[in-house]
Amino acid sequence: MHELSIATALVSGVTDALSQAGEHRPVIAVTALIGDLSGVVPDALLFAWPIAAEGSRCEGAQLRINSSPGRVWCEGCQVETRLTQPPRFRCGTCNTPTPHVRGGREMELVSVELADEETEPTDSPHNEEARHATTHP
Ligand SMILES: [Zn+2]
Repeated sequence: MHELSIATALVSGVTDALSQAGEHRPVIAVTALIGDLSGVVPDALLFAWPIAAEGSRCEGAQLRINSSPGRVWCEGCQVETRLTQPPRFRCGTCNTPTPHVRGGREMELVSVELADEETEPTDSPHNEEARHATTHP
């Protein structure tokens, strides 16, 4: 299962980044960039994620996948065009085959969302405390 090893790599990437940054807050969500040409099936990765995250700091965190379309560069047209699915590696303008793949092979960790992180501007810090108070009777 290819995606499980990728999910495991993402988990350890997150864990390493957080320990290097000295962060100890719980992980809420992890965003990864997955290219259309990376060979990774997003659904399979989402399925593998909780298995890989179990027992780690990412346990219970949500995985979000940003997909990246495949793109090729055409020397003749001097343009970058998106690949259609399935990819044929041809210029989208003149249909000439091109080996210059410019994107779509990404498998990257984009961002990690931590608990208690202020994701939206709040005019009063007491709002946060009030919310916590209501969720813990
Ligand atoms: Zn072209």
